[in-house]
Amino acid sequence: ARPEQALPRVVGSSLRVPLVTGERVEYANLDHAASAPCLEQVRDAVDEVLPWYASVHRGAGFASQVSTRVYEQARAAVRRFLNARGTDAVVFARNTTDALNLLARSLPRHTAVLLFDTEHHAALLPWRGPNVRRLRTPSSPAQAVLELDRALGAAPVGPRLVVVTGASNVTGEVWPVAELARLARRHGARIALDAAQLAPHRPVDVRALDVDYTVLSGHKVYAPFGAGVLVGRSDWLQAAEPYLVGGGATARVTDHGDRLGVAWSAVPERHEAGTPNVVGVHALAVACDVLGRHWEQTTAHERALLARLREGLKTVPGVHELTLFGSDHDRVGVVSFTVGGQDAGYLAAALSAEHGIGVRDGAFCAHVAVHRLAHGDRALRASIGLGTTEAHVDRFVAALRSLVVEGSRWEYEVRDGRWAP
Ligand code: PMP
Repeated sequence: ARPEQALPRVVGSSLRVPLVTGERVEYANLDHAASAPCLEQVRDAVDEVLPWYASVHRGAGFASQVSTRVYEQARAAVRRFLNARGTDAVVFARNTTDALNLLARSLPRHTAVLLFDTEHHAALLPWRGPNVRRLRTPSSPAQAVLELDRALGAAPVGPRLVVVTGASNVTGEVWPVAELARLARRHGARIALDAAQLAPHRPVDVRALDVDYTVLSGHKVYAPFGAGVLVGRSDWLQAAEPYLVGGGATARVTDHGDRLGVAWSAVPERHEAGTPNVVGVHALAVACDVLGRHWEQTTAHERALLARLREGLKTVPGVHELTLFGSDHDRVGVVSFTVGGQDAGYLAAALSAEHGIGVRDGAFCAHVAVHRLAHGDRALRASIGLGTTEAHVDRFVAALRSLVVEGSRWEYEVRDGRWAP
């Protein structure tokens, strides 16, 4: 596709939110890592297909044919976005968590799974059985490679799967995926890439990285909620029991009196039982297309804002940035930090109530990583993307500095588990 010049626009960029004073201000959304706002082009594309949506594959009517085409074109768009192999299956799921659970259910028996304990819970938890090997948080990319090399060398013979994130949802740091994939290959293992946090920020090239499976979520790549995808080698998926059973996953069901005979569909339908989320998948696909045509603009925008954010944070007393591989390591637009002596939940609440700024606080569904890096404390996370402006970053830094240095003129207390003025 032809690259385009302008930065893609997101919806809701001029939303105003109420403050504790009763005043209203423009909302500064610094929580792109949780869910990114919807692209205008995605909203328009969804609007266009809404009148046509009908159940895919099974209907003969015209609307059904349109929906079926939209749905199958979405597979092609995702394949293009990730430069997937022609032989890879593209299976739609609800989100990254769902896609990783699907993969976990599709592994051959006795597959050894190797992963670092810094993973998001979606990548850390779905794997079951005695052959799951959790590796300790590495302190450098080189150590990650060394640890994995050792662990793969000691892993039992048979199928093996390495699971790794492309970019940490805690520190934003980019993992050495290509190196880890090379290593996995050398040991005859497969590798799955959790691209939930990388795909919104950088091109992910399945063939160049040489990864076997890739998962991502629509709502992190500037589409609304409800659609994610698993892309990868089809043999294990084809041999596995359907992830869900029901219509769509079945090629034929026959009545044998005392039992039913069921022939399951082939992938991808095998793992997509039930009426699929045509609108969500279309939104995901359009978002992929738009991102794929704008990498130069989006990465430049983000690099500049990330530098501004990190420089700004250096001017706030007590801020300690969380990092796995050192503060010079390559990262996407995510910064987590603690502020000495201050409660992260209180600061997040005050940033929202007094300044109209949205950040995350807590342990970000990566409890092991945050507890280790924040020394048992909870952290704050500011994450940027296409909805972020210089003004948002400056407002955030100024607001945080004023809360830390001068404090608040409001009293805060914990109500229903959250800080509130
Ligand atoms: N992996 C990573 C690295 C993530 O950042 C997230 C979302 N925070 C997930 C997995 C899970 O994504 P989802 O909630 O869309 O399933």
